[in-house]
Order: sequence, then C-alpha cells, then structure tokens
Amino acid sequence: MDLGIAGRKALVCAASRGLGKACALALAREGVSVTITARTRDVLERTAEEIRQATGVEVTPVVGDITTDEGRQAALDACPEPDILINNAGGPPPGDFRNWGRDEWIGAVEGNMLTPILLIKATVDGMIARGFGRIVNITSSAVKAPIPVLGLSNGARSGLTGFVAGIARETIAHNVTINNLLPGPFETDRLRATFEASAKRSGRPVEEEVEHRRRSNPARRFGRPEEFGAACAFLCSVHAGYMTGQNILLDGGAYPGTF
Ligand code: NAD
Repeated sequence: MDLGIAGRKALVCAASRGLGKACALALAREGVSVTITARTRDVLERTAEEIRQATGVEVTPVVGDITTDEGRQAALDACPEPDILINNAGGPPPGDFRNWGRDEWIGAVEGNMLTPILLIKATVDGMIARGFGRIVNITSSAVKAPIPVLGLSNGARSGLTGFVAGIARETIAHNVTINNLLPGPFETDRLRATFEASAKRSGRPVEEEVEHRRRSNPARRFGRPEEFGAACAFLCSVHAGYMTGQNILLDGGAYPGTF
C-alpha cells in the first residue's frame, strides 16, 4: 500500500533507539524526511546514518533533552513545520508511590504529559493552516491497564490521553489527526531494564523473568519494534484521515477486554 506521504516532513522525538527509532525508520521508508532527537550524540548520529543508508531520505539528528524547553526549541528550530509529529520520551522509573515526592511527579508529568502537549501546541496550528497533519503520541498499554509499579507512568500518560481526547475532535476537520499508540511489551532496551527491575524485586533471575513474561503474553512473544513502526506509519498515512482521538493497543492481545 502506498501510504501517500512521500515528501512529507516528520519530527520524531526520542528516536535514537527503540520504538522512536522504529517509527522514524518506517516513515523514512515511505519517503518522509525525518528529524530525530535524543540526548546522546554518538548513538543518535549512528541511527541517523543507519536510516539514511536504509532509505536514502534526508535525516536530521538533533541532540537534546526533549523534556526541556531548550531541547524542544532545538527540535523545532531544525524542523519548524513538521507535517508529522511523533511524541516520545523515556518512561518514568518504576517504584512504590510511597517513595515518590513532588519532584518525581513533576518529572513524570513534564516528560510524559507536558512535553507532548507543548510540542502539539507548537506545531498543530501550522498543520491546520497547511491542511495536513498527523500526530502520534507513544504512550503505554498502562493507560488502559495500569501497572502498579509504573504509577508515575499510569498517572502522567493518562493526563496526556485526556487532553488529546478533547483536541483531536477539533483538529480533524482540517485533516489533522491526533492518536495515541499504546505499546505492550516490545523488545527494546527499555523492556530489558523493566525486567531487570522486576527480577530484583522478585528475586528471580532475569532470564526467568523474561521467559515468564514471554509465555504469559497471548502471542507468546514480545512485539518487534518494526511492527510498532509500521502501525505508526499507517496512522500517519493519507488513509488514516478519518481516525482521531484513538488509543490503539499493540500488546499481542494482553489486554483482555472485549472493547
Ligand atoms: P528505549 O529506552 O529503548 O528508547 C528510548 C529512546 O528515547 C532512546 O533513543 C533514548 O535516547 C531516547 N530518550 C529518552 N529520554 C529522552 C529525552 N528526555 N530526550 C530525548 N530523547 C530521549 O525505550 P522504548 O522501549 O523505545 O520506549 C519508548 C517509550 O515507550 C517510553 O516512554 C516507554 O516507557 C514506552 N513504553 C515502552 C514499552 C516497551 O515494551 N518497550 C512498553 C510500554 C511503554
């Protein structure tokens, strides 16, 4: 299927690795030029080169912390008029809510709620004026099925989800859609770190923890980042213009609800 977005420009946040990188690569394969951000220069530049080699499109790496004003400004300076915005950042750490104070909560809200909201604010009116825009927020399956140790993520991402539910209905008349992609367990560095933390808590070896999680998913495996990237590229396509304000789970069927 031709996604109809060749020649478009995308800003993909937090994209040197994992799901953000997979989204950038999938968009680049469709002929979209991508600006990718991350905090560590060498990893980011390596990823930029990898995407260039694989696709031949223009890839602009921007070093910076996307959860800060400076990081967001640097990203927007490099890509001031994106047609496509993929909001992503590292997730907050797991833990017990009794140990979290104001600082931990502010960090989570800044990273996983305010950062995407501020980037939407900075880009959505341009998309509306140009008559095309696709915004995808990478959130988490924890928005639908909260994971107790990820309370910071459950809370902050739900705030973003509520905000998006409102504005997504205002932008679609201008061919600007805003949707959320909710990953379950995908094989990335982040997933590995989560298993290491849960192995420490349970006292089980990490590999046992990994096997247990793999077996307990209905798909009997973890998601592949390229599967996530493909879903993201479809949401950014011309074919997805009638779809907005949705929360799309990619979790191998782990969420057991009928709806
Ligand atoms: P990852 O650790 O593999 O990759 C994260 C990427 O974001 C890296 O490129 C990193 O450099 C970049 N990054 C992190 N913080 C940043 C910041 N402040 N500014 C700029 N760049 C930053 O993680 P992932 O698995 O790809 O996860 C992406 C998001 O999806 C996270 O928010 C994570 O919590 C969420 N998520 C992931 C899974 C999963 O199974 N992988 C499941 C649910 C939710």
